[in-house]
Amino acid sequence: MGLLSEGSPLSWEETKNLADHVRKHGIIQFINLYKRLRDRQGDILKWGDEVEYMLVKFDDGAKTAKLSLRAAEILKTLNEKEYNDPDNIKSLWRPEYGAYMLEGTPGKPYGGLLVHFNVVEANMKYRRQEASKLLEPNEVLMSLTNFPRTGAHDFTDPPTHPTPNSGSSKSLFFPDEAIYPGHPRFKTLTRNIRQRRGEKVAINIPIYKDKNVPNPFKEDFGPLIENESSCAAKEDHIYMDAMGFGMGCCCLQLTFQACNIEEARTLYDQLTPLCPIMLALTAASPFYRGYISDVDCRWNVISCSVDCRTQEERGLKPLNENKFKISKSRYDSIDSYLSEQGETYNDVPLTYDDEVYKQLTDNGIDKLLAQHIAHLFIRDTVSLFSEKIHQNDLEDTDHFENIQSTNWQTMRFKPPPPNSPIGWRVEFRPCEVQITDFENAAIVCFIVLLTRVILSYKLNLLIPISKVDKNMARAQRRNAVIAEKFWFRRDITSDVKKQDDGQPECTEFTVNEIINGKDGVFPGLIPLVNSYLASMDVDADTHCTVQAYMKLIQKRASGELLTTAAWLRKEVVSHSEYKNDSVITQRINYDLLKKVQKIVSNEISCPELLGTCISSKTNETIPAAVAKAEKVPM
Ligand code: ADP
Ligand code: MG
Ligand code: MG
Ligand code: MG
Ligand code: MG
Repeated sequence: MGLLSEGSPLSWEETKNLADHVRKHGIIQFINLYKRLRDRQGDILKWGDEVEYMLVKFDDGAKTAKLSLRAAEILKTLNEKEYNDPDNIKSLWRPEYGAYMLEGTPGKPYGGLLVHFNVVEANMKYRRQEASKLLEPNEVLMSLTNFPRTGAHDFTDPPTHPTPNSGSSKSLFFPDEAIYPGHPRFKTLTRNIRQRRGEKVAINIPIYKDKNVPNPFKEDFGPLIENESSCAAKEDHIYMDAMGFGMGCCCLQLTFQACNIEEARTLYDQLTPLCPIMLALTAASPFYRGYISDVDCRWNVISCSVDCRTQEERGLKPLNENKFKISKSRYDSIDSYLSEQGETYNDVPLTYDDEVYKQLTDNGIDKLLAQHIAHLFIRDTVSLFSEKIHQNDLEDTDHFENIQSTNWQTMRFKPPPPNSPIGWRVEFRPCEVQITDFENAAIVCFIVLLTRVILSYKLNLLIPISKVDKNMARAQRRNAVIAEKFWFRRDITSDVKKQDDGQPECTEFTVNEIINGKDGVFPGLIPLVNSYLASMDVDADTHCTVQAYMKLIQKRASGELLTTAAWLRKEVVSHSEYKNDSVITQRINYDLLKKVQKIVSNEISCPELLGTCISSKTNETIPAAVAKAEKVPM
């Protein structure tokens, strides 16, 4: 989220009463924005990453690692530079949900030259160092998708206690102090989502049934447990009951600027089938609340952690107070394509208000975009500030953004902000963050290159949305990269639905086949990237860097290297203190995160995760001569 404006949050009752007001003005604001910006042309490729981090505090005497709740303090210092000299900074820092989290982006977006790939990792390293300079001894900035012991006993520094009977989360495990304290948005969202739902959120993730896990696995939450949690907690599952379990995870996101709205719609669609594939490939979060789970990714955890749907909306009761039965949480994969090419693959029924849809189409918005916006707007606002109630709908877009930015989906279609030089953009949101800058840079460069390949070769990766949904479920399973197959388009060079050989247009492939190719059947995404690169004039350093990144992706896909999730699991189960009970003790957690830290700081190598060639030629600045020589943008 962007720089958050200060203000006073309304109570849930007040917010609820203004839900229709926000919706009504949000739609008008979108219509005005669309009329103003639909014909905007000629923007160039710009792009940037977002990396989220956690602050971890080690105690080498007690052998513990805990989440350090000092992000607000550190962010204050990090933001000073930006306020003093916004045009000359190499990084931007933003708050995130956790009191232990930070989000860092490059100071400016990158442009469309290949040489920019050579600065991505150096910039990530710069950010890590910049924030790390502000830390206390034994405090470390880590890019972990999830902290293994979030919500387990004694997981924060300073120590905190959950408050099941009061506060924003009312969690048995996650204390309100672990929510970012510097802005009221986060606690307000937490409270309002819980109140809208009418009960606490309920997250049940299957536990990994190692041989000493009791059968059935059923936790005793103590004598004080209220009825709500005892009903919600499922056997053989790790039960979690707070927004912080999901929104307190970190991820890696990417935003691209398109040359116009049409190209943005194409990119939005074409990247959609890649979301589950990249989720599986970047899987990095097998542990929850101090237990080993049977999934490798955070996605369903976050989805459930902000599921504000009422029992009626979830289909547990007949509709009475609510208007719609809604099939997904507001955090989930997208439900419809936006480009004309995508239209025939929209095979999932879309829920929306017919009047809102009609209002959009009456104002000249085509069917596909109108149904996308109308579908986002089935949600109520879950955070409203008193200063923002009344707006100028001709200029402001806050009510639109209010709903848009709380539909947390795999892809986001981002209209240009008011009065800015920024164009139509698309955000790619599924990836889990990796422990090293090398890995994160590799993923980022791979996705950016894919967008170029898709646009220049006019590839068509589309498959029915229902199959993307199936792939999302498979992507999260343990060891999905090796063990699962994914629906993918067979012939990505044509729009033909029925192939010449009578074969269906999509079939099931392993991630290896999708990334590296399958002889005579599928070319593979990396070979396509490589043939694209071969047609470009690329300087030696950038070439070397990009090749190191592509090798990493290829080897993760083929199983030659472990995914982060697989490596983390292996470390825990081979720890001398591990008792085959799927429990991650303080000591196991400490040793694991210490090892992660040593890998990140290059004190030890980890070839099973990273391979042997992890040195890129990354550089903080692009030599002017090189940039000048590369005249043709990607
Ligand atoms: P979000 O709303 O997703 O949190 P952020 O403001 O945190 O968005 O930034 C997302 C990314 O977009 C950053 O990496 C930033 O560098 C990048 N970015 C900024 N301006 C542009 C632009 N004009 N086109 C593409 N990306 C941009
Ligand atoms: Mg952001
Ligand atoms: Mg964000
Ligand atoms: Mg973020
Ligand atoms: Mg983002």
